[in-house]
Amino acid sequence: MAYTLVIALVPADDDELPELPLLTRARLLVYPYIRRHSCEERFEADGECGCGCLWDDAGVGRDYYRGCLWLDRYGRLPVDHPVSDPEDEPRLAAAVNLRNTFLTPAAIITPDGEAHHPGGTPGAHWYTHSEYAQLEDLLTGYPACFAVPFSCHF
Ligand SMILES: [Zn+2]
Repeated sequence: MAYTLVIALVPADDDELPELPLLTRARLLVYPYIRRHSCEERFEADGECGCGCLWDDAGVGRDYYRGCLWLDRYGRLPVDHPVSDPEDEPRLAAAVNLRNTFLTPAAIITPDGEAHHPGGTPGAHWYTHSEYAQLEDLLTGYPACFAVPFSCHF
C-alpha cells in the first residue's frame, strides 16, 4: 500500500459546470478511477471489478505531494505562494515544470476524462524518456487548464 501522484487537468472555465469550484471539478475527473463499495464485492467474487478503477482513495495534495507542482529545482516553494491548503495546489498547467518535482505521475487525466499513463498502461513498471516527455507535452498542451495534484492510495 502506497501513495502515487495523479495530476488532473481542469479547464479554468467550464461552460457546462460553471458553478462548481475548480477543486470540485478536479475531483470529478479523478473519482471515476477510485474504487467503490460495489467494486469490493465484485473483487471478492471475481478478483476484479471491471469498472476501470485504479486507486482506492484520492486527496488533493495531502502530505505526500503537498505543493509539488510549485517547487523550483531546489525543491523550494515560491515565497509568495506557500501551499498550506488544497486551494493553493492548482497551478496553470503550462507553468508546471514536471522535472522539478522529481516525480513521475502515475497518470495525467485530461479534461475529457482520459487517464494517460507513462509506459502506456496503468502501473507500468518502466517508461521511456519519450513517454515522460509526452506527459510534459500534456501539461503544455492544455494552456487554459489548471493542473491539480492528487495523492492516490493503492
Ligand atoms: Zn471498480
